[in-house]
Amino acid sequence: MEANKAIEIWKKACEFLSSAISPDIYGRWIGVIEAVGDDMPGQLTLSVPNGFYQDWLEEHYLPLIHKALVVAGEQNITITFAVDGARQAAEDVPSVSNASKKEEGAKRKGLKSYNAGGVLNPRHTFDNFVVGASNTFAHAAALAVVENPGRAYNPLFIHGGTGLGKTHLIQAMGQTLLKRGKGTVCYTSCEAFTNEFIQALQQHELAAFRKKYRHIDLLLIDDIHFLAGKESTQEEFFHTFNSLYENQKQIVLTSDRPISEISNLQKRLVSRFEWGLVTEMEMADLETRVAILRRKREQLNIRLADEALFFIAEHVRSNIRKLEGSLLRAASYASLMGKPLTNEMLEYLLRDTIEQENQTALTVEGIQRMVAEYYDIRLGDMTSKQRPQNIAFPRQVAMYLCREMTEQSLPSIGNAFGRNHATVLHAHRSVGSKMKTDVGLRQTILSLQQRLGGGNAPG
Ligand code: ADP
Ligand code: MG
Repeated sequence: MEANKAIEIWKKACEFLSSAISPDIYGRWIGVIEAVGDDMPGQLTLSVPNGFYQDWLEEHYLPLIHKALVVAGEQNITITFAVDGARQAAEDVPSVSNASKKEEGAKRKGLKSYNAGGVLNPRHTFDNFVVGASNTFAHAAALAVVENPGRAYNPLFIHGGTGLGKTHLIQAMGQTLLKRGKGTVCYTSCEAFTNEFIQALQQHELAAFRKKYRHIDLLLIDDIHFLAGKESTQEEFFHTFNSLYENQKQIVLTSDRPISEISNLQKRLVSRFEWGLVTEMEMADLETRVAILRRKREQLNIRLADEALFFIAEHVRSNIRKLEGSLLRAASYASLMGKPLTNEMLEYLLRDTIEQENQTALTVEGIQRMVAEYYDIRLGDMTSKQRPQNIAFPRQVAMYLCREMTEQSLPSIGNAFGRNHATVLHAHRSVGSKMKTDVGLRQTILSLQQRLGGGNAPG
């Protein structure tokens, strides 16, 4: 059919398609299609960038596309796919998601390495990652894994609070292997993995889903704590894990909490996650924070004096993302003002962030809220009279933290928990002595303190 008509019909079909499948899948498979004209009446020619798009679409999406055309009021149209040579040449690395198809495509083009997963931020490289005491171990482990994927430590499990560089680090691993041409890399968030799995279930494409995830050389799953309570995704991931592991493929996972603290995670997954190396990232110390700010200043070509960087590093202690945000804020203000910033001006500019940094640590309620969220219990459980272990223990942890991190007296802490001062004292002693022998608990407390913004006093 003639070009204008083809485009118009395809546009209508896309309206249906975009409502029928997830934006992710739509973008990946349908968004790349262009309707073009031909001289066959009743035929719609759809141009795709390369041969494996064609194979994949024919194999999996043809019925759906037909349906979309019917919905668009076009009953009797035949569909033909055409590979557009120009588009094929323009694509140096195939950006399709299905690993097996990509593999074929890659073989055709003589590529050894490609990305089967989500987008990697080009700034998240090892070069841009500042190493300091807080992340030396995680960084070294990541490098070791990249040098020897599937052999050094498998799986590698990296945990730590938000904004501490987990995503940066695992994306750096992915980019390094891609650059070296070491096979198929798949970076994905646990949430995207979950959605993709659900979608595959609904559309009866489980086989393709499995094929994809079981043909990967480096699987990077970000924020695996998202698996908490998701029974069937856990089940599926268990098999993905086993299949990759048995084939000595590398698995890297990140989490915002230690493995033992991911609620409702099947025991067999817990044990597998512990098979390899577990490493924690902590908040950067003052020197590292300054080094990170200097690096960003250079990268972003920002003009800001060292004194200003120090001020920011001293005041923003809990989260590197906030550190970056503060730098940008200060920098844009300085460039507007056209003169160096004084500490008073910085303090004013960053007042919200600074207040947050100081505040959370200081209120008993803030601690209760954070601990409840962390252990996935209700805030009300902090003050309730119930004593099942899954509530009693977090409550003790919260009391411990209140005693350690606030200036409140024992009776007033007790009061806030609906208890007396003796209970708080007991909780404090009991958690304190458990920490001496229980490394996991020590890590939990440290990471809670970090979240509360008080784990790293300035200087
Ligand atoms: P997480 O995944 O742990 O929440 P991110 O990896 O997203 O944290 O890091 C937050 C921001 O801080 C990102 O912009 C990242 O580039 C930056 N960042 C974190 N750690 C470092 C580091 N060691 N060196 C340089 N930048 C870092
Ligand atoms: Mg992250």
